[in-house]
Amino acid sequence: MKQKDLLYTGKAKSVYRTDVNDRLIVEFRDDITAFDGGKKDVLKNKGGYNAEVSAFIFEYLAKNGVKTHFVEMLDEKRMVVRHLEMIPLEVIVRNVAAGSLVRNYPIKEGTPLNPPIIVIDYKDDSRHDPMLNDEIIIALGIATEKELKTIKTSALNVNRLLSDLMAAQGITLVDFKLEFGRGKKTIYLGDEISMDSMRLWDKKTGESLDKDVYRFEKGDVMAIYNRVARRITQQQG
Ligand code: 5GP
Repeated sequence: MKQKDLLYTGKAKSVYRTDVNDRLIVEFRDDITAFDGGKKDVLKNKGGYNAEVSAFIFEYLAKNGVKTHFVEMLDEKRMVVRHLEMIPLEVIVRNVAAGSLVRNYPIKEGTPLNPPIIVIDYKDDSRHDPMLNDEIIIALGIATEKELKTIKTSALNVNRLLSDLMAAQGITLVDFKLEFGRGKKTIYLGDEISMDSMRLWDKKTGESLDKDVYRFEKGDVMAIYNRVARRITQQQG
């Protein structure tokens, strides 16, 4: 497969066309950003760790019947994916209160959320990703009622599968963000699932094992990403 022209550049990934119909290449760069791009750095190997974890998780989800855009890894940082028409929603599932939920509402960090909460934000940095509800999503024509139902059911299914995967490694899946897109007639899980898009706490120590380490300068970000990548991909007992 040949990599062709750049289709899209995000804050941490670039997407390229290819010479194969219906296939794109996603390159995970070493850029890391937080607070709507207000904090930015380049951290060596970061793209590789996130690509490795995303690929592992997409394969695990596919084995468990989830339709994802993942096809294969080309090298450590480049992933071949199915070409989707992305839906500009950030679908967040929360199992434990943290982050913006705690900042915006009267709930204590660490409060278990049972059943889990789904929050859907509009993916638009210029508007600071405002929270949506079903009626706004339908009124704006972002997704149909049927698509929304599929997306929410899939997000909760992914939550069950990922929570089990993390629990087996002694990690609490606090919350995470998913993005979906349209393929031919089907909704697929797209984007990435990595330490940048999940909030993970060590079950024993409560230590952050995700981008909060970067956001709030809690330690050596890359040492932690490397360690977590080993744990999640089960390369360490
Ligand atoms: P919060 O709303 O607490 O900031 O985020 C909830 C979860 O969704 C966290 O795991 C966070 O990493 C993820 N998340 C929310 N917005 C974004 C985003 O714009 N990009 C990425 N990569 N993850 C996000």
